[in-house]
This record gives sequence, C-alpha cells and structure tokens, in this order.
Amino acid sequence: MGHTRIALQDGPVLDRYVTVRDILTQTNVSADQPGLASSQCSSFFRSTQDSNDLGATFRKALYDGPDPANPWNGQPILDRAASLQTFDGSQTTESRWVAGVVSREDLISAAGNPRVLRALQNEPVCQAFLNPQARASTQSVPRPDGQPGFAVFLNTGNAHIKQSDLDTLVLRLTPGTVLHETLHSLTGLADDVEPSVKTLTGVGQPYDLQTFVGLVSANVSSIVITKQLMEKRCVAQ
Ligand SMILES: [Zn+2]
Repeated sequence: MGHTRIALQDGPVLDRYVTVRDILTQTNVSADQPGLASSQCSSFFRSTQDSNDLGATFRKALYDGPDPANPWNGQPILDRAASLQTFDGSQTTESRWVAGVVSREDLISAAGNPRVLRALQNEPVCQAFLNPQARASTQSVPRPDGQPGFAVFLNTGNAHIKQSDLDTLVLRLTPGTVLHETLHSLTGLADDVEPSVKTLTGVGQPYDLQTFVGLVSANVSSIVITKQLMEKRCVAQ
C-alpha cells in the first residue's frame, strides 16, 4: 500500500490558515502594532545583550542577515511564511522521515541510532494529529529523495469530527501558529531536544526552537513557544 500526502482541500482549515497567514505577512503595519516589524519584536530578534540567552545570536542572524549595513528586517521570515505549502496532516500517511517532518538533530540522532531511524520511518505524519490539540507539523529538512519543499501539515480532524470540535480546531490556528511553523521551516529545529541529543557530535547551539526564542527551561510545550512570540509582539495576542 502506498503512503500518500494529501494537499489541503478547500474548507474551513484552509480558509483560516490563509487568513492568519495573511495577517502575519502583511507589511503595511506600523511599528507600534504587533507584527514582525514592531519595535518590540525587532528588538527581540536583534538584542544580543543577555548572555544567558543562547538563541540571541541566531535570532539576529535570521532576522537581519550577515550585513549590518543592509539589514533584512525580518523579510526572509515573511517570505518563507508566504511560501509554505499546505497539506492535510490528518490524511497524510507518508512517514515523518519521508515527509522531512524531522529536525536537523533528528537526522544526526537517526544516523547514529537505527532505532531512532526506524521510529521516524514508521511514524505516519497523521499520527500527531490524533491529538486534537496539535495544530501543525512542518517539514524542517529536505525529503530523503532530495525533493525540496516547504510543506506545512495541518490538523483537519478525523473523518467524523463534530462541527463544534472542528470550529475549535480551526480557531486554534493563529498568526502565531504560522510564525512558529515558519521558524521550524527556516531553522530546521524541533521544539525541544533531549539533553542526550545535545551532546551528540554535530549537534550545537541553539539546539531547539525553545532555546532559539530565548526560553531556558527544559521541555516547554509547543504552545509556550508560540506564546513567547506573542509576548514579544511579533504576532497579535
Ligand atoms: Zn513547534
């Protein structure tokens, strides 16, 4: 039996995704409004003052690029958000490994541990979406066949989902979700990695997305990362 990935069909999830993505990527926003160009968000990406913040230099590099005389002002983040391709995560049966829904650190971990590799090869993308709290999973590395792509897989619920549950699921998608998934796509980082993975050869700072956004406590949940992006006014609350 073939494992497939299914493009996101017209419907409430796609409508909502397009709406919140367009809010994130609009550029005619003043600096006192929430957005990637807001004064608070730009200083969050640019400040390298706090030596405990292991993500700071990586945030600055992503936001402004290598040339201080010609800063990017977050444009690559907006561009990537605009080019993510939507798929139906709940109906996609191809494996996380084949879909590239793994992190750079997973690749290193799998290269040294056949059990990790098999687990990623055996876990279908749809498995994460059995959890109704799960919003999205994002391709963070190229597919094993080398096929590029910026896929984002969204939760559409099961085939018999009640309308009220579907409404709840749709409303969970926010501009913050899109920014969070865009950062996975750009950085190749997972939400958090185990301490044992941090010590593997080839794995280095910033280790994971929670560190990238300046959170230091271990095992923060996906939603806490998104909340941090809201608190820094990179997206509306
Ligand atoms: Zn995440």
